[in-house]
Amino acid sequence: MKSRLFSLRQILLDLATLLLANLLIFWLAERYQWLNSGDGNAQTMALALLLCVNLAVSLALFAYRRARESHAMLQELNTLAGQDAVTGLANRRQANTILERETERSYRTRRPFSVLLLDIDHFKDVNDNYGHLAGDQVLAAFGELLQKRARQLDTVARWGGDEFLLICPETEQSGAMALADDIRQRLAQTELPAVNRLTASIGVATQTVDDMPETLLHRADMYLYAAKNAGRNRAVGEAGSANRERRLAPDD
Ligand code: GH3
Ligand code: MG
Repeated sequence: MKSRLFSLRQILLDLATLLLANLLIFWLAERYQWLNSGDGNAQTMALALLLCVNLAVSLALFAYRRARESHAMLQELNTLAGQDAVTGLANRRQANTILERETERSYRTRRPFSVLLLDIDHFKDVNDNYGHLAGDQVLAAFGELLQKRARQLDTVARWGGDEFLLICPETEQSGAMALADDIRQRLAQTELPAVNRLTASIGVATQTVDDMPETLLHRADMYLYAAKNAGRNRAVGEAGSANRERRLAPDD
């Protein structure tokens, strides 16, 4: 959070500036005798009017500055609420919102999207052997690798622990599988902090006509589990699954 927002120093500075500006106006009024025309009553009225106008303008300026700070703070909070602290990627909450949006879009356009659920293999060993901090650095580096490889329209999120979710709009199963394999190969060639090399297992699911976000994710999770069981460092997708025939197509 930016420290300048609602800082006591800034508020005191604003108040001091407004006070000085008000004093300057009254000094100028006295110096150039703006209020000295007419009788005593008229002068008192003019003084009261000047006081009221100054107060109103000062209050309005002060309130405007605070309103702008509130707006900026709300925007920052909104961003932070959707962000994972370790990797800076979208968090699970934000990923869920995007999944719902993509599901809606997919129903409307009748074009599929795919998700990749990725889990680092034997990540617990990284923590055990190199410490939790090194583990965090590896998570951040893995997130960066995914972000670099993903398209601009894709969303990369940390789903939880060492699990990441890649949401790929307008992507068929074959494209998503190719992406998963490319990520695996890149990971195999990437030197990560402390651990040198790591592998990941990936479950790849593609939206079908009757998928809800939960059912799509459930399948991705099953495929990920199958990839782990088959020996890790591989991607498993819909091939052979009954869902294959029910994918969204423009003429569905
Ligand atoms: P597998 O190949 O079966 O996935 O084995 P694994 O060791 O990766 O097992 P698992 O995925 O169950 O382990 C995830 C580990 O991730 C366990 C937990 O201690 C660690 N972890 C979860 N969140 C964080 C985090 O924020 N930072 C760090 N450093 N470690 C985390
Ligand atoms: Mg793991």
